[in-house]
Amino acid sequence: MTAPGSLRVVRTVQEVRSAVHAARARGERIGLVPTMGYFHEGHLSLMRRAREECGFVVVSLFVNPTQFNDPADLASYPRDEVRDAAMAASAGAQLLFAPDAAEIYPTGFSTYVSVTGVTEPMEGEARGISHFRGVATVVAKLFNMVAPDVAFFGQKDAQQALVIRRMVRDLDFPVHIEVCPTVRERDGLAMSSRNVRLRPEDRERALSLSRALDAAERCITTGERQADVVRRAALSELEAAGVEVDYVEVVSASTLGAIDPLEGELLVAVAARVGAVRLIDNALVQA
Ligand code: AMP
Repeated sequence: MTAPGSLRVVRTVQEVRSAVHAARARGERIGLVPTMGYFHEGHLSLMRRAREECGFVVVSLFVNPTQFNDPADLASYPRDEVRDAAMAASAGAQLLFAPDAAEIYPTGFSTYVSVTGVTEPMEGEARGISHFRGVATVVAKLFNMVAPDVAFFGQKDAQQALVIRRMVRDLDFPVHIEVCPTVRERDGLAMSSRNVRLRPEDRERALSLSRALDAAERCITTGERQADVVRRAALSELEAAGVEVDYVEVVSASTLGAIDPLEGELLVAVAARVGAVRLIDNALVQA
């Protein structure tokens, strides 16, 4: 199957391996952009960056069941492969790997990658330990299937990027990890495939996440060094909007551990349920 812009869509590991093998034989650098589809500018920014650095860009599209803690979230996750293929082609990708679940998790599948430490707070606590176990396992498998020189991830999922970096270091995957900046709507809302599920009134309330990050950042840059004061500044924006807060954290950007008084590179991270949709966002701030 061929989509516009000479993008090939493949479903099997064997097809991916032979396409990558041929590209490598032509001397091309291989880039991988792992995704769950329903593309927006955030995904496309990763693909364009990959295209700048790599002659052959593989985009994987797989809504990975093992990283969903909520079956309703998995069932309602937006999907549109035809649209995604056209967008990936326009961003310069050459191969879209869109496997069925059975290709990734054959019957009797029983091996998982479990990263400790950075997986435990924030998303790990809110979604349970199986979430990052699912993420690390599927990304490890994709690295083994595609064998990319470089893999591209978004800062939007800051904790996920840290987990992948840790896994790559600890297990000696021969892949370079690049983390690209969060792409936002003009009004500040971080782009997410889940945003299409926001009702109009929730779309407005969802802006409280980026407002909370701005408030925290203002607090830090004007000299506040108590983590809890900064947390409360962010929290009050979320509470004012009436969203259901999962967490607000101000932590070390490299370890996600507590730093008090605040110092160095910090990650301000928020998660909240806005109507039926759970959203996350974060900002890197220097103290
Ligand atoms: P997903 O399809 O949500 O699993 O995301 C696939 C990749 O795109 C992940 O590395 C995400 O961090 C990244 N991504 C998602 N949203 C954004 C965004 N708004 N800006 C930059 N990268 C993003």
